[in-house]
Amino acid sequence: MLKVLKFGGSSMADATQFAKVRSIVESEESRRVVVVSAAGKRRGGDHKLTDLLYLCHAHLKYGVSCDGVWQMITERYLSIRDELGLSTDLESEFAALRQKMDSGISQDELVSRGEYFAARLMADYLGYEFIDSARWLYFRLDGTVDQEQSYEALRKLAQGRRVVIPGFYGVMPDGAIKTFSRGGSDITGALAAAALGADVYENWTDVSGFLMADPRIVKDPEPIERITYSELRELSYIGAQVLHEGTIFPVREKNITLNIRNTNQPQHPGTMIRESFEEGEITDDRFITGIAGKKNFSVITVTKSGMSGQQGTLRQMLEILEKYGVNVEYIPSGIDSVSLVVASDKAAPCLYQIMGDLQKEIKPDTIHVTEDMAIVAAVGRKMAYKPGSSGKIFATLGENHINIRMITQGPEELNIIVGVDNKDFENAIRVLYNSFVK
Ligand code: ADP
Ligand code: ASP
Ligand code: MG
Repeated sequence: MLKVLKFGGSSMADATQFAKVRSIVESEESRRVVVVSAAGKRRGGDHKLTDLLYLCHAHLKYGVSCDGVWQMITERYLSIRDELGLSTDLESEFAALRQKMDSGISQDELVSRGEYFAARLMADYLGYEFIDSARWLYFRLDGTVDQEQSYEALRKLAQGRRVVIPGFYGVMPDGAIKTFSRGGSDITGALAAAALGADVYENWTDVSGFLMADPRIVKDPEPIERITYSELRELSYIGAQVLHEGTIFPVREKNITLNIRNTNQPQHPGTMIRESFEEGEITDDRFITGIAGKKNFSVITVTKSGMSGQQGTLRQMLEILEKYGVNVEYIPSGIDSVSLVVASDKAAPCLYQIMGDLQKEIKPDTIHVTEDMAIVAAVGRKMAYKPGSSGKIFATLGENHINIRMITQGPEELNIIVGVDNKDFENAIRVLYNSFVK
């Protein structure tokens, strides 16, 4: 039995958290591979090391002294080391890094050091070997991970050993350090689990598993005991940021169970995530598994009479957006109208060009853009079998005076998605939660 464990920023924040990590790791012989994030916030108002490192790089870029920020970074790691009584030689590492910073260091390399130092300390503390992710996590030139090469390299380095691996970064073909997008240590853990054929990938964080809604919006949401990969992917893609949305593919490919756990409450079983569950394994009878969402979408609606009879119109529209590198998230459509839902921050810089191209190539009757829309999704594998689920969702929102701007459903009937005004976002999540869960 092998378990790969990933500990997030809050689990790495200070010496007390390190001690919790060690007792979790030592409590089971199978917990031999540990992936760590950079130290996170110790309390509200505190800083994440990764944020400080980005800030440090911004100072360097504009030629402003970063001494103050640098001191906060080094002090945090030195205090963890000293409180734990470790002898890791951080001073010479810091001095070498400082020199590199003065002679020009890439943003990715500098911010990756948050995970690097955290992993060095954790390896010493656990008495595990440290394996630098620059030695096994290979990116291709296009920024995707070369799984085959990476898996083989990690197997050579770590098979049968007890190791600590820094999350968040890997190496480009030219040797440069590259990071994932924010929250990417989750992906490192998933890749390590897949490479080493782990039985379970445990993702240790500061909540007792995946909750039915964002705890910053709904007070004390119910934890989700079991959830399928597909449902989790829907929820994390749409905004539940417990796990990086890229986490699921590597473990799903190898059919590895994913278990989200709470470092501060290690007895809690957390959330189990698998391809599917047997009938008897599921104890609750809720037909919604979770609710999530995101703000700030723009909806481009194109109307043209007779559109449904014309071939190629939708393709032309999508090609225009592709030309500007804008991803289309949803495509609700009527007989003679199609809406393209896009993230506002991606579309804003080229919105006028997109509108111009649509005008020229589609020659629509009307075309208009709705801004400030939020997307809220109710996700659940059982929704497909229950009649009336969408009716209940619409009725609940209506009764609470929340105007629905758009409705769409995925073909697998795993989700029902509604568009509401940004200002109604939190309220929509709360009323749906209260109506379906409480
Ligand atoms: P880590 O640093 O361990 O990677 P993150 O901060 O990335 O942790 O993710 C955990 C946080 O995700 C929780 O503290 C919680 O505030 C937030 N969160 C958002 N939506 C949910 C949800 N549906 N269930 C649980 N946590 C959620
Ligand atoms: N430390 C990185 C971040 O803050 C990666 C991670 O925590 O997963 O985004
Ligand atoms: Mg995270």
